[in-house]
Amino acid sequence: MDWKVTLSDMDFDGREAEAVAEVLRSRWLTMGERTQAFEREAAAALGARHAFLVSNGTAALELALKALGVGPGEDVLLPSITFVACANAVVAVGARPVFVEIESADRPLVSPEDARARAGSAARVLMAVHYAGFPCRLPELAAFADGAGLALLEDAAHAPGAKLAGRALGAWGAAGCFSLFSNKNVAVGEGGLVVTGDDRLAEELRLLRSHGMTTLTLDRHRGHAADYDVVRAGHNFRPSEITAALASAQWAKLARMNERRRALTARYRAALAGTPGLALPFAAEPLEDAACHLMSVLLEDPARRAPLRESLKRAGIQTSAHYPPIHLFSYYRDRYGFRPGDLPVSEAFAARQVTLPLHSRMGDDEVDLVAEAVRKALA
Ligand SMILES: *Cc1c(COP(=O)(O)O)cnc(C)c1O
Repeated sequence: MDWKVTLSDMDFDGREAEAVAEVLRSRWLTMGERTQAFEREAAAALGARHAFLVSNGTAALELALKALGVGPGEDVLLPSITFVACANAVVAVGARPVFVEIESADRPLVSPEDARARAGSAARVLMAVHYAGFPCRLPELAAFADGAGLALLEDAAHAPGAKLAGRALGAWGAAGCFSLFSNKNVAVGEGGLVVTGDDRLAEELRLLRSHGMTTLTLDRHRGHAADYDVVRAGHNFRPSEITAALASAQWAKLARMNERRRALTARYRAALAGTPGLALPFAAEPLEDAACHLMSVLLEDPARRAPLRESLKRAGIQTSAHYPPIHLFSYYRDRYGFRPGDLPVSEAFAARQVTLPLHSRMGDDEVDLVAEAVRKALA
């Protein structure tokens, strides 16, 4: 399909091309100095002591859960309105996902009250997903997690560069995970990032990212280390230097790209305000510290959702849905017995939600065109 307005787009220029070419010229492709350089940049930007670049955002979540020591017989609390990677990572470490309601349709973010209500004695981790780049109620979530002896793990895949009370999202919890997938605010194709302020957790992340080995390929290559021991059954979640170079080039542009996303979101808000049958989640949230990853809209009547998406498609406008509730996917229903009605607020949100195009290369005229098409379809 040849879209007139795509849902997302990458924001590349000569800097990304040059960064990749330089890696190729260097003839060192696997995790090395460029990865370390990016990790220093990301840690400084996020105000975290440690940052680890990994192969993708799902690996970042799995690595963080493993480093936190979560495993069989233990529960992870998480929202159902998020990408399935969140739950798959929990299953991958052998733990059980326990889905928690969102606050409301207006704030589709994990509810501290419902987390408290659904936490059983096996709960070990609370995963907070900053949906669309807006902050969860982190002080309340952190207070609950602290009191209940849980680790707070942030999924900030939508939120690089976003803040709450002056502190970067991703830097509030025991660990924070980011995705650098092609459609995210910082896009490298496949990449992820874990940050933490905890030195011991950082050591676990370092070991588990690369086979549980005590030395790195680069150190052995340079003659800094002759051999190695293996102290964990780790993974290979290492990034390539090409990923790291792209990540540095992209992160250097993040403030500008997020600023553009905020301006476009403000334009959508103005253009769609008062549209009958339509509401905007986060309508009352300030934009200045948000990463504005998604332009999410809500229909009053779920029956109008499919026709709206169809009508936008005919106009050449790509849409999506973020997200079908995870607990209603076949695997999760069959394995854990989840049923419709388990999370009524989340299910009602999903039934009414549509995602409109938003990316930093979008023009004002494209926002106007999409908003006009939405208004016409709902008239
Ligand atoms: C994209 C995404 C992930 C997974 O990241 P990948 O890099 O695609 O593996 C996890 N959580 C959320 C909320 C995401 O949007």
